[in-house]
Amino acid sequence: MSERAPDGFGEHQPVKGPRKKKGLLIVNTGNGKGKTTAAFGMALRAWGRGMRVAVYQFIKPPTANFGEHRAAKRIGLPVHPLGDGFTWKSKDPERTRALAIEQWGRACRAMFSGELDVLVLDEFTYVLHYGWLPASEVLAALADRPPLLHVVITGRYAPAELVAAADLVTEMTLVKHPYREQGIKAQPGVEF
Ligand code: ATP
Ligand code: MG
Repeated sequence: MSERAPDGFGEHQPVKGPRKKKGLLIVNTGNGKGKTTAAFGMALRAWGRGMRVAVYQFIKPPTANFGEHRAAKRIGLPVHPLGDGFTWKSKDPERTRALAIEQWGRACRAMFSGELDVLVLDEFTYVLHYGWLPASEVLAALADRPPLLHVVITGRYAPAELVAAADLVTEMTLVKHPYREQGIKAQPGVEF
């Protein structure tokens, strides 16, 4: 009888055998905090391994200069934000969409350049959720990417097709949030 880990890991993974290498499609979704920071954590981990990493941020404006942007600049990890800070009450939805399409074009060129080991597409789920790009086109491009390239996608409302295509999906669950319970607004070092 095979040994099973209490968390169910042992049920699906052969314990022995050659180590398989595969570029993973990773999705961090859900309403809880930690999706973008987990993606940056992995980017940092890969960067520390000497891997070639780039982050393309959707939604966030090119002026974004949060702690993670500053840290990335210091170590030479490329982070490219291109958006208009879209919220559900965006004033110019056409512009929001145009920027998302332009950013996808840039991210695609990076994805197929052969010069990356890890590509982070931050807040990319919204592009699919709001239908700014057809899911079929995006999924076809992701499937065609270089086989060892890891792609990390973050954002709420990951659509079912993306979850189905992904190798690793984590859903952050909101249990408590200081804004919701105590009205405490975003603080540097924690949220930006
Ligand atoms: P982080 O960037 O800290 O990893 P995230 O990527 O999971 O967070 P997003 O969904 O991108 O979070 O949301 C951006 C910001 O909104 C986060 O800083 C988060 O703390 C904040 N936020 C999340 N849930 C709530 C809430 N219920 N009320 C107010 N702010 C929230
Ligand atoms: Mg985020």
